[in-house]
Amino acid sequence: MPDPAPEPDQQRVWQYRDSQPTVEDVLAALPKYRFPGVMRGRRDAFLVVLLGTLGMPRTEARRLRPAAITLGATITINGRAIPTSADPVRCAACAVTRWLRIVGPTWIGLRGDVRQLLDPTTSTLNTHDCERPVPGDWRRAEQQLLPLEVHGWARTGVALSGRSMTAIVPRRRAAAAADQPPEVIGPVARPRSRFDALTLQETYDELGDTDAAVDAALARLQAISDDVRALGDVLDDVAAQHRPSRDRVTCGRRYRAQSQASPRSRRTPDSHG
Ligand SMILES: [Zn+2]
Repeated sequence: MPDPAPEPDQQRVWQYRDSQPTVEDVLAALPKYRFPGVMRGRRDAFLVVLLGTLGMPRTEARRLRPAAITLGATITINGRAIPTSADPVRCAACAVTRWLRIVGPTWIGLRGDVRQLLDPTTSTLNTHDCERPVPGDWRRAEQQLLPLEVHGWARTGVALSGRSMTAIVPRRRAAAAADQPPEVIGPVARPRSRFDALTLQETYDELGDTDAAVDAALARLQAISDDVRALGDVLDDVAAQHRPSRDRVTCGRRYRAQSQASPRSRRTPDSHG
């Protein structure tokens, strides 16, 4: 008898082939601050480190608990050191700390905090995230690997399925193989506007003007809406006058029948009969 097929969960999802993008290539291509997709990008980067750098089986990745991770001069997961790279966007250790920064607030449900942490206008990709201290609330997330719902927000209390992990890896490798423009973050991530050089007082004045302009626009919209409603009423009336009503048809028939019975009383029948 041939050997039974290996248990799918025991398979290594990340298979090394020369032609395929490396872990570092995939990490470089994943969004770190860019909306939309930043939550998914950071979660997938963490997953890629677990499956690709550490070669974890999916069951082990799914069960990863905070106690398995230590932060310090070297980051370890299950006792194994996570390597760093010269380039922060390709750094596996940075991928881990970027995810740990948001997994705690995400687990607790502090979406505002997470959004603030992901603000692309106040961030940089030139320095190593792994060299900055990470607040300890990541330890409160009982699961370190979280599935995401359709809008990209994390779901807690459910494990990321093995099937999802198997689907994510080739998709992220394919994205890394395709040429993508580099992620733009920092103050330049916000398009320049005419308000950039204003003083605080000028900004308040502009705010007041904008408020008045919005009020005027809303009043104009209300007037247009009233006109449309009045026009609709008139059209309804006209349509009702020209609609052949059943009464009028009945009247017309009765009239024609009467006219045929007594030619003397013949009159021009109602044109709409
Ligand atoms: Zn780093």
